[in-house]
Amino acid sequence: MIFLKLSNILNDINKVLLPPLCFGCNARLYRGEHLLCTLCRNQLPLTEYNLAVENPVDRIFYGRTDVSKAAAFLYYSDEGIVKNLIHYLKYRKQQQIGTFLGEWFGSELLQAGMPARPDYVIPVPLHPRKQRKRGYNQVDLFGEAMATLLGAEFRTGILVKTANVRTQTRKDRSFRWQSQQDLYTVVDREQLAGKKVLLVDDVITTGATLEACSEALKKGGDTEVYIAAMAVVP
Ligand SMILES: [Zn+2]
Repeated sequence: MIFLKLSNILNDINKVLLPPLCFGCNARLYRGEHLLCTLCRNQLPLTEYNLAVENPVDRIFYGRTDVSKAAAFLYYSDEGIVKNLIHYLKYRKQQQIGTFLGEWFGSELLQAGMPARPDYVIPVPLHPRKQRKRGYNQVDLFGEAMATLLGAEFRTGILVKTANVRTQTRKDRSFRWQSQQDLYTVVDREQLAGKKVLLVDDVITTGATLEACSEALKKGGDTEVYIAAMAVVP
């Protein structure tokens, strides 16, 4: 009890000494601002892609895997607000950024109209060893927020990563594709039969990871796959 009170007091002191900063530009946040300052929030490069109308993210997967529809929320670039947000989310334990993006994107998708209501929202899994090291999967809270908004069930543990191999290598695309195919597997295939799955990830670059996950989900079954990512490299 005493420890609890003490930690509350320390928390308050912390807030005074270390005021919350914007994850986009490090400026001090003011009352009513959450995670991002007003300037960064207004400058977020929204793609305005959704799951109702064809967009460039769909085209990434054409001829590679049978994805029903794909979209990403933000444009990713090598510097700037989006890169900073993803960095804090992935490497600095700022998991609440996932919830923030998931709620925003989820409501945009709903507003644009969904082609179908997903049964499950499934995150691209990390290898268990990597997840233990990081302490969390950076996509989980994004997926949970979307699942809540879309009336779907958030499911982990069905799609799993079986080998701990770097996904971004300098190898050419066909080699990478082949080496990716066996990295992901489905544990309980029966649960996916006839289901619509919204697969979620952080940043789409080549699409190789999502392609491999989609193939694993669809293997030998009638599972429909949709994709929603936080960002895409344009
Ligand atoms: Zn800012």
